[in-house]
Amino acid sequence: MIFMLRGFLAPVIATLTSIFLSISALFGATEAPVRTPDSFENVKNVIYLIGDGMGPLHLEMAKDERDITLTMDTFEIEGCSQTRSASSSVTDSAAGATALACGVRTFNGALGVYTYDILHVESNPKNLTELCIEKGMKTGVVTTDSTSGATPSGFSVHTDNRNNTKDIGKQQMNSDIDLIWGGTSDYVTQEKCEENGFTFVKTYSEMMALEEGSRSFAQFDNSTWTTEQVDADTPTLSQMAEKAIDLLDDTDEGFFLMIEGAHIDKHSHNNEAEKMAEALEEFDETIAYALEYAKLDGETLVVVTADHETGGIVLNDDGTYSYTKGSHSAADVPVFVYGSETFIENGETVKNIQIPERIAYSLGFTAEEFPYEVFNPWVSSFNDFISNQDFLKK
Ligand SMILES: [Zn+2]
Repeated sequence: MIFMLRGFLAPVIATLTSIFLSISALFGATEAPVRTPDSFENVKNVIYLIGDGMGPLHLEMAKDERDITLTMDTFEIEGCSQTRSASSSVTDSAAGATALACGVRTFNGALGVYTYDILHVESNPKNLTELCIEKGMKTGVVTTDSTSGATPSGFSVHTDNRNNTKDIGKQQMNSDIDLIWGGTSDYVTQEKCEENGFTFVKTYSEMMALEEGSRSFAQFDNSTWTTEQVDADTPTLSQMAEKAIDLLDDTDEGFFLMIEGAHIDKHSHNNEAEKMAEALEEFDETIAYALEYAKLDGETLVVVTADHETGGIVLNDDGTYSYTKGSHSAADVPVFVYGSETFIENGETVKNIQIPERIAYSLGFTAEEFPYEVFNPWVSSFNDFISNQDFLKK
């Protein structure tokens, strides 16, 4: 059945593509200017930090709430990302993660699949983690969310629905990622993890005991988003990041590490400014460590951004900040960069899907290698066409 569909889909997509391209030409749609892949400074390692739900005013609100300064404010290069998905101006975290991991806009709720092929019969867009594994790099996915949460899943699986927790767990336990760390997920078992060569980790001390060369799957029972450890068994996000970098940094091929601060979003859904601010402070602490590492290392690109804004935070007349909703908004989010002068112009606005493209190019990959699969140019141009339409741009 799948083979029949594959044979059937390609010519259909090819025809649709040429029709769409003709219509596009008719209305004078032009390709947005894109920098060539080889114009990017080359780096060896990438630390990609995603503050889920973190809009620009989350930073201001957190500084007010906790009376702190932020490492994020010290980046010399800062841009903006437009966060929409293929189906809505307001993205969810699954489509948001797909955009940030695969360089492809998909429907809200979908993970690592093309809009026209959500059951991935024909093909999947490759995510950065898979791309880096193919190159022989070490890879890691670290989150304060469950390991089957939308953002870590965007960097590790392909499935049509973020609620396919069993499928997500199965794909992750069968993956070649070196470390997948976060909160518990119902379908992840010690037995299955060990079968696939992962050391199964449940506590802070087990995490700290991991040695270079090992692959590990961590399932922490308690919250990792707070600034202090909630108990002796549970690490904080910055402790996880420090250990993860230490484990991945043992190869000449370099590493790719995605770190998510998921609770900026979670607490913003509940409009809990105090908790959001603490989660953001811990995320910032994590960024500070990544930056410190990158400055010493000299070959590491640090990119900080968000998948979308949550809570519609506004600045009030009296200079205070407040939430206006309990859901996501279409607001642009910040992009902070260290380690490359060519990644983004200071003040430049990019589409979310351009961020992983630029990460791939900074790692020396070509336009053919990312984001589109080369075996079917029709598939590539169709998705390229869909995700470059003006109505999808903002
Ligand atoms: Zn959310």
